[in-house]
Amino acid sequence: MPSSPLPSIEPADLEWHEGVPESKQFGDIYFSRENGLEESRYVFIDHNNLPARFATVPEAGAFVVAENGFGTGLNFLATWQAWNSYGPSHAATLHFISAERFPLTPQDLEKALSFWPELKELAHELIANYPPLVRGAHRLVLGGGRVRLTLYFGDLNDAWSNLRFKADAWFLDGFAPAVNPGAWQETAVEHIRQHSKPGTTLATFTAVGYIRRLLQGAGAQMQKTKGYGRKRDMLSGVFWPDSLPSSKATETVTPSVTIVGAGIAGCLLANNLAQRGYPVTLIDSASQAGAAASGNLQGALYVKLGVEFNAQTEFALSALTFSQRYYEANGGKFWHRTGLLQLAWNSSEEDRQRRFISRNQYPEDILYPVTKKAAEIQAGIPLSSGGLWFPRSGWLEPAELCRMLSAHPAIQTVYNFPVTQMSQSDGQWRLSGDTLEHAPVYTDSVVICAGHKTPEVIPGQNSLRFKAIRGQVTHLPDILSANPRAVICGARYLNPFYTIENQRQAVMGATFDLHDNTPEPTAESHQENLHTLSAMVPAVLPSDKAAAIEPEQLEGRTGFRCTTHDYQPVAGQFYDSEGTPTEGLYLLSGLGSKGLTYAPLLAEFLADEISGQPLALPASLIKRVATRRMHRLRTANK
Ligand code: SAM
Repeated sequence: MPSSPLPSIEPADLEWHEGVPESKQFGDIYFSRENGLEESRYVFIDHNNLPARFATVPEAGAFVVAENGFGTGLNFLATWQAWNSYGPSHAATLHFISAERFPLTPQDLEKALSFWPELKELAHELIANYPPLVRGAHRLVLGGGRVRLTLYFGDLNDAWSNLRFKADAWFLDGFAPAVNPGAWQETAVEHIRQHSKPGTTLATFTAVGYIRRLLQGAGAQMQKTKGYGRKRDMLSGVFWPDSLPSSKATETVTPSVTIVGAGIAGCLLANNLAQRGYPVTLIDSASQAGAAASGNLQGALYVKLGVEFNAQTEFALSALTFSQRYYEANGGKFWHRTGLLQLAWNSSEEDRQRRFISRNQYPEDILYPVTKKAAEIQAGIPLSSGGLWFPRSGWLEPAELCRMLSAHPAIQTVYNFPVTQMSQSDGQWRLSGDTLEHAPVYTDSVVICAGHKTPEVIPGQNSLRFKAIRGQVTHLPDILSANPRAVICGARYLNPFYTIENQRQAVMGATFDLHDNTPEPTAESHQENLHTLSAMVPAVLPSDKAAAIEPEQLEGRTGFRCTTHDYQPVAGQFYDSEGTPTEGLYLLSGLGSKGLTYAPLLAEFLADEISGQPLALPASLIKRVATRRMHRLRTANK
C-alpha cells in the first residue's frame, strides 16, 4: 500500500524586489511593477467581459470564474471588487475557483497585497479567512455570502480532476509557458475544456502560438488582441459559440426548499440557502429550533485527526478548518474561541499522539503538540499530561446558534409539526403529518436533517443504516479547584465554566450508549461522567470529591446522536435501494458527535448541490459522504 501524502504543502519561495514578489521556484514575477492591478483588470476582467455579464446574473444565480494559479490573490480581489461594482443587487453568488501548487504563506500574502491600498478591505477579509497551508480543497465564504472562493492547494491537474464545476470564465495565469510548461500541456487544456460549456470565455496574458492552437483544438474560438501596456499581444476566446442556446429571456422562479429537522445541520442549511436567495421552509416536530441533540448549552468544536492523512482525515480536517472560519465570521456572541486541548490522557492516546506528530507536520494555526507545562498554561488548570493544542478551536452555544440561524427573513419556520408522510407528484413534494393541525407543505425540494429519525420520514426506507447513540451531558456546578479557560478533550470533554441560565456551570460529557434509549438524564450516566472526568483531570476533580457529589442533584441533558454503519456522515441527493436517484430529495445526517464541526461544511456542500453551483467538496470526499452507501441491501457498495 502506498503511504498517504503529508497534509502540509510546500509554500511559495519568494524574493522581493521593491515590494513585488518573485517566485524562486519559477523565476517569474507575480504581478507587474508598473500596474499589476490595471493589467489584471485589462487582461482577465475586461477580456472576459465580466462587468456586463455580472450585471445579468439572475436572482439566486451564480457566476463562476476559474483560474490557474492563485498566487497573491490579486486577480481574485480585482474580480470581487468588480462583482461589488457591477454584480446584481439581488441575492446571487460569485464563485471563484483557483488552484495553487505553491501557496503563499499568510505573512507573504499580507505583504504582497499591501501593495494595493484600494483593495485594502477585501484583502483584509481574504487574509482573515486564508486557509492553513494543507493540501486539498478549501471553501471560503466572503462578503456575507455573496462571494465563494474555492482554493485548491495542489497541482492544477489534480484540482481540475477532483473539483466539480462548470466555469463561465477562465483566467489562465500560471506563469509564462517558457518557465512553466507543465501548466500549459494538453492535459491541462483538456481539463479546461471539460469544465467549460457553450459560451464559456477565457483570457490569458500569453500569445504563444501553440497555446492558441491547443485551445482551438479543445473547441475555443480564439483571438489575438493587444496586450496590456508595453506587451504586444494577448489571447482571449470563447468555447463553442455556435452551440449557444438561443438567448430568449425565460422567467425562472427560484425553486423552494423544505428542510425537515431544525437541529444544527438543518438550521445551517436553511440559513445558507436563504442567503443564496432561496425561499426556505424549516420544519420541526419540537416547538423551537435546536431542541434535540443540538440543544446543549455548550458544545466543543472538535475532531480527532487520524495518524494517516487519508480521505477520512482530510474530510475531518476540511470540516474543522471550515467550521472555525464559519463560526469566527457568523457565530457572534455564541462562539467562544478559547482554544482546545486534546489531552494525552492515557498511555495509548499518548502513543497515538506521538505517532501522529512524528508522521505529520501540521501548520501551527491548526494544531501543535504541547508539554504538560505548556498545556497547563493554555488550559489554566493543573493537568497530568500534555497533548495537542488547537489554537483556533473553542466552544459554542449550539441551541442559541440554531435559533439565531433560523431567524432569517427568507426562512419560514413551522414548529410542532411532526412530518409522517411524504409523497411526490408532478415534480412537487407534499409533506404532511397525522393530524389536520398543519396544512400540508408543498415544495420543489426536500432535505431530511432529522438525525436518527431520518428513516421514519422517508417512505419505505426503514433499511437505511442509521443508528442512535445516546449521549448524556452533565451540567457541572462550579466545584473544581481551578476553572479551565479552554476546552479539554480526552475520555470526556470539559468546557470552560460560564454563567448559563443564571448559574455558573460547565457542560461536560458525554456518555456513549449504543444500547440505552432512556430519554431522560439518569443518575448512573451523571456518575459515569463524573468518574471518567475525575480520571482525566484528577488534579482539579479528585476521585473522593467526585464521589461526594450526589448525582441525583445534578442537572444535564440527553441527546441521541445519529451515526451510520461506517461512522461517516451522509450528505447529498437520496438514492433509493435500487440505486436510483430521487429527484428533489436530499439527506444531511449521520453527524454523530461531530455535528458542530461537520455541519457547516456539509451544509455548504449540500447548498451547492441543490443550487447547481460548484461543489465545495472534491470528488474524493463526496464519495465518503455519499447517500447511496446507506442501504443495507445489494446496492450498498455501488
Ligand atoms: N493569479 C495570481 C495573482 O493574482 O497573484 C498570479 C499567478 S502567478 C503569475 C502563477 C501562479 O501559478 C503561481 O502562484 C504558481 O505557484 C502557480 N502555479 C504554477 N504551476 C502550477 C501548477 N502546476 N499547479 C498549480 N499552480 C501552479
